[in-house]
Amino acid sequence: MIRPKSYATFRLLAVLITIILIATHQYLPAKILPLYPDPERLSWIYSPHAHDTEQADWIDRSINHFRCNYAPGDAYSCGWSLNLGPDRTTGIDLSAYDGLNIFIHYKGNAPRIRLSLRDFDPSFSDIEKYDTTSKVMSTAIRTSDLNQPVYVQLSEFSVAEWWITEFDIARQYSAPSMNNAIAIGLDFNVHSDNEIRIERIEAVGQWIKKETLYFCIILFWMILIVIEVLWRFYLINIKTKTDAQRINNLVSEYKKLETEKQQFEALSTTDVLTGVMNRAGVQQFLQRLFESNFSRNQMGVMLFDIDYFKKINDSLGHDAGDVVLSEIARIINEQVRQTDIFGRWGGEEFILICSQISEDRLITLAEKLRETIERHSFAIDDQLIKVTVSIGATTVKATETFEAVFKRTDKALYNAKNSGRNQVRFFSP
Ligand code: GH3
Ligand code: MG
Ligand code: MG
Repeated sequence: MIRPKSYATFRLLAVLITIILIATHQYLPAKILPLYPDPERLSWIYSPHAHDTEQADWIDRSINHFRCNYAPGDAYSCGWSLNLGPDRTTGIDLSAYDGLNIFIHYKGNAPRIRLSLRDFDPSFSDIEKYDTTSKVMSTAIRTSDLNQPVYVQLSEFSVAEWWITEFDIARQYSAPSMNNAIAIGLDFNVHSDNEIRIERIEAVGQWIKKETLYFCIILFWMILIVIEVLWRFYLINIKTKTDAQRINNLVSEYKKLETEKQQFEALSTTDVLTGVMNRAGVQQFLQRLFESNFSRNQMGVMLFDIDYFKKINDSLGHDAGDVVLSEIARIINEQVRQTDIFGRWGGEEFILICSQISEDRLITLAEKLRETIERHSFAIDDQLIKVTVSIGATTVKATETFEAVFKRTDKALYNAKNSGRNQVRFFSP
């Protein structure tokens, strides 16, 4: 795994190296290939040559000093040439160079000397007649410029027209080419008497061409950018996946909490002993009902209180009391409608809220519940006991608060108790 910090350092370094390369490239030392003198090539000198032996001769061969007299009667000029390879078909690749540094000492009356290069390529050269069929390229140098180092650009060379004509060269080969330069030479194109000493010839170029360097730099940065983009894309992809995973975890966590919350809510609004709603549950419901615009017309409320319940506890035990409480809750719950709200109000008191019920039907229902309980036999251990309840009931006025309704119901219950218990008392609003 690449650490972002070390990558940033690497990129900064790459920027610095790029700037340094661009700024200093031109000051790099030139690439130099000595052509003469060069111990390997010395033996390949093709003498000062002439068609007429009178024309040319060495003055001092060891220092490459010769005379060339191109007399008015001569058909061709005399000259000097140096083979660049061991035979006349393999040479050197001069296309990797920009020019030639030459240092020629000259004495004579010619205005120019002709510097020529030969390039051998089987595409246009005949291996049998390599001497003449290799491409002839030349440039003219003013003799007044000689006797000092001269720089000649390779682009100054042009292909000899006589060569194209004589060998009927196809157009695609008629431009200069230096991939396999087999010889370099000099001669004259005007009649003159000349004394020449060749001191130095070398090919000069750059180690890395500007275009190559810029191409490499651009290529490097393009590859780096592509890698970086892909890498970032990969990281985003991974992050998206982990984020999605995290969101999924949170969602399932939330669902779990929601379920737990519902369970706790159910627990907190349910009476553990009887399984019906507890006081908090009933109050929650009532709060919602009395705060809303829901029509409270035709609503009835009943409050139940078990008669002499303390006695049951005292005589038969607390567990017997619990059985009675559960049984009564079950009996009432079984008799009421789905839309009614029934719950334990506290201790041995229960509350029932009926919707869509008339005064008459409310009283009838209360009577029916009271009777059902009165008739029921409660099995405690191996004995059957009888239990009664007192009931206070009332109907609800559309505008009143629950507190007012409850107060009236409680009064009705109190009245039922005081009237001898096991009774229903209805107080109208
Ligand atoms: P009354 O006829 O006037 O209502 O008399 P009562 O004995 O029923 O009324 P009282 O208020 O004197 O007694 C109620 C008793 O209910 C007191 C209490 O110990 C008992 N009790 C309250 N909650 C529970 C419970 O969950 N289980 C049991 N077994 N008894 C309970
Ligand atoms: Mg009571
Ligand atoms: Mg009681």
